[in-house]
Amino acid sequence: VKKSGAPLLECLECGTKYDVQYMLSCPKCGGLLSVIYSYDHIKEEIDTKVLASRVPGVWKYRELLPVSKDADIVSLGEGGTFLHNCPRLAREIGIKKLYIKDETTNPTGSFLDRGATVVITKALELGFKEVRCVGKGNLGASLSAYAAKAGMSCDIFVPREIDIGKLYQIVAYNANVKLVDNFKKALKEVERPEKSYLVTTTDPFFLEGEKTTAIEIIEQLGWKSPNRMFIPIGTGGHITATWKALNELVKIGILKNRNVKMCGVQVQGYSPIVDALRKGQESMKPIEHTRSEGLELSVEHPPYGPTALKAIKDSNGTAVEVSNQEILNAIRLLASNEGIFAEPAAASTIAGLRKLIEAGELDKNEEVVCVITGEGLKDPMTARKFVDRISEIERTIKHVEQRQLVIRIGETKERILQILSEKEQHGYGIWKILKERFGYDTKIPSVYQHLIELGQLDLIKKTVSRSVSGRPKRHYYSLTEKGKELQKILEKLKI
Ligand SMILES: [Zn+2]
Repeated sequence: VKKSGAPLLECLECGTKYDVQYMLSCPKCGGLLSVIYSYDHIKEEIDTKVLASRVPGVWKYRELLPVSKDADIVSLGEGGTFLHNCPRLAREIGIKKLYIKDETTNPTGSFLDRGATVVITKALELGFKEVRCVGKGNLGASLSAYAAKAGMSCDIFVPREIDIGKLYQIVAYNANVKLVDNFKKALKEVERPEKSYLVTTTDPFFLEGEKTTAIEIIEQLGWKSPNRMFIPIGTGGHITATWKALNELVKIGILKNRNVKMCGVQVQGYSPIVDALRKGQESMKPIEHTRSEGLELSVEHPPYGPTALKAIKDSNGTAVEVSNQEILNAIRLLASNEGIFAEPAAASTIAGLRKLIEAGELDKNEEVVCVITGEGLKDPMTARKFVDRISEIERTIKHVEQRQLVIRIGETKERILQILSEKEQHGYGIWKILKERFGYDTKIPSVYQHLIELGQLDLIKKTVSRSVSGRPKRHYYSLTEKGKELQKILEKLKI
């Protein structure tokens, strides 16, 4: 360990400290690494006034980031996102004060850009020219963009179930995409070429970028904590970083206290942290699934599970699991009330908030912040589900219109359609059936008039003209597709 005042890497397991360098895990025990700073030095260097004079964004909090002062920053304008006051949604949900931290407006549409700007800047500073990553879609999209900006070559390994919008992004940024069938295996087995910086979901520099969401929230609230923060838990990195940031702000003296309950949100089927809390277990037991682990929050074994659990416990917070349907409802609620279109993982925080309110576990006077981590168009399949609902409405409207047509066409025409639904007929045959089976006293020319009108409504068509046993040729009629549909509705209406 060299320079005093410089940041260090610290093992989260055994506490050993190392100089800042490229290191995937603790060489001694294999534990995850975290960056620590000389907080007393930083306390002297910056205060809220200094920060207020700087432009918004991740690099505003540069003293709390692990890059040297003269590093070339690779930035696309990440961070500095809005903290929206959301009275409409708050009223709808039933609380007094709700803020949304809208991370959908980051350069690639996800909060991970905050991590990418730091890790790519650091990789360049350490002399790397290539970057490689095994990650879910958002991480891949974000790193590809920043690698492109930095002029670095970039390999991205993503699960085959990747949301299609994210895949388009990665391809557009010209990264080398590798779709993997077994994501868990890829996480363990993808190798690092010597010249490559391998970004994993547990990269300590990446996490430093992620923590700036929390610093911004605190600054936007006038250097005060909200009562509660909702954060999605996939790897557990974001909630870990958030809690770290709050503690650091206290250490450098610009936040008085961190009285904020951290609420982690997990998706049903992937909720080891919720389980641990529910059962009062000290540690988290990973979930075992045979099915895919492709989606953002579908993480069986959150690498930051222990630190996420600690953040929740230390802050007197909680964790909540939500279903896919609850998430879908939350996407609609957020978009229609506040104009923010979130991807499922992001909207999970709104779903989690609703669930806690319904369970009576949240005081309605609390000031709540929900972090919305990524934008909705990244996952067009989910967006499509809303459109499907609209087509259902369209079908209903069509149905009603057809019923009105039924009312318009009258009883004789209805009978003719019924007759033609059994088999094709000529005009004389129809007249005969009308008379014999239904007792209609209709003239033959009026039957032909009905046939002309049904043809104009596109409900019947002429099929063939045949001569039967030497008589003059006769036109045969049958139902069109539209006629068949209407006939089916007529049948239903009779019941
Ligand atoms: Zn260690």
